[in-house]
Amino acid sequence: MLASKMTIVKKVNPVNPEDSVIEEAARVIRNNGTVIFPTETVYGLGANALDPEASMKIFIAKNRQPDNPLIVHIHSLEQLFEIVEDVPENITRIMKKVWPGPITFVVKKTDKIPLVTSGGLQTVAIRMPAHPVALKLIEVSGVPIGAPSANLATRPSPTKVEHIIDEMMGRVDMIIDGGETFFGVESTVIDVTKNPPVLLRPGPFTLEELRNYFDDVIVPDFAQGKGEAEVALSPGMKYKHYAPTKRVFLAKNTESLIRIVHSLRSKYRFATICSRETGAMLEGNKIITGSKENLYEVAKNLFDSLRKLDRMEVDFGIAEPYPERGIGLAIMNRLRKACAFTVVSSAEDLIQYLQT
Ligand code: AMP
Ligand code: MG
Repeated sequence: MLASKMTIVKKVNPVNPEDSVIEEAARVIRNNGTVIFPTETVYGLGANALDPEASMKIFIAKNRQPDNPLIVHIHSLEQLFEIVEDVPENITRIMKKVWPGPITFVVKKTDKIPLVTSGGLQTVAIRMPAHPVALKLIEVSGVPIGAPSANLATRPSPTKVEHIIDEMMGRVDMIIDGGETFFGVESTVIDVTKNPPVLLRPGPFTLEELRNYFDDVIVPDFAQGKGEAEVALSPGMKYKHYAPTKRVFLAKNTESLIRIVHSLRSKYRFATICSRETGAMLEGNKIITGSKENLYEVAKNLFDSLRKLDRMEVDFGIAEPYPERGIGLAIMNRLRKACAFTVVSSAEDLIQYLQT
């Protein structure tokens, strides 16, 4: 059992963070403690990435499987060169252009990175976040910070502090409340140890944008959230993920969603997780993610919508799919996993799943 900790919660100005809060959090990191902090993607649960014991505390706090590696967060390129070697020059040139930002590069590991942090792999994932609080915290701590999303394993990632208070009080040393995160889905992960590079997780830095930097990018099925990662290319991919406690089904398309909702409405208690446009055509319980015309809004509200489902007095949810362009690829990757790959095209399909 995890000993219950005293968790300090401090509010911070997300744009211009107060020195006193950053100093306090940096002290916790330097003492090998754990701090939850905002980034531009989702909240991260951080600890000193160079210390195996500190890193281990992240896995314990989250109940995370030990072979699911962390992303190491840095605040400058100098810090990158302190912890890894042999990053090809064409890759560092790209890093200079896209960092700070919501994109993580998988590169070759050195002995400076403990195996606990890299989930036992000989590669390590690195990102320079574009959030004033995250950047300042890493800088003042003086060490790179290993930080996965600040949720319990399998749960949706937190985009607001209320999501964290529910799950993480007593499990970490400090929580920095910097308000709602900007993108709402986790960073894009690209493995540049392969040639051509492989997209391991779609995110806010879109595939279309990546193609401006790389001649070719491999997009495996699992990056779209389809099926499981067979090879442990990206270990996080093989676990249940982003899931609310209640069951969610993904409709094949908007038309099937509308038909299913109409035919089940009088017989079952459920909520429809959909765009504002589709919601306007439907009766019954709804959780609106955003406009179909603005997939950034949908991404930002996606995990909050999944958590809302758990608080509603319904038995399951039915989610609308979105076009897989731009940030839509990241949205669909998360939705397919949240739905445990149960895609339904008719009411009969869904009823059959309910009976299994
Ligand atoms: P999280 O921050 O919780 O979303 O988890 C970070 C994710 O990054 C992991 O689940 C992996 O999918 C990916 N990742 C981190 N390090 C590596 C690595 N060395 N090789 C491949 N994928 C990685
Ligand atoms: Mg995560």
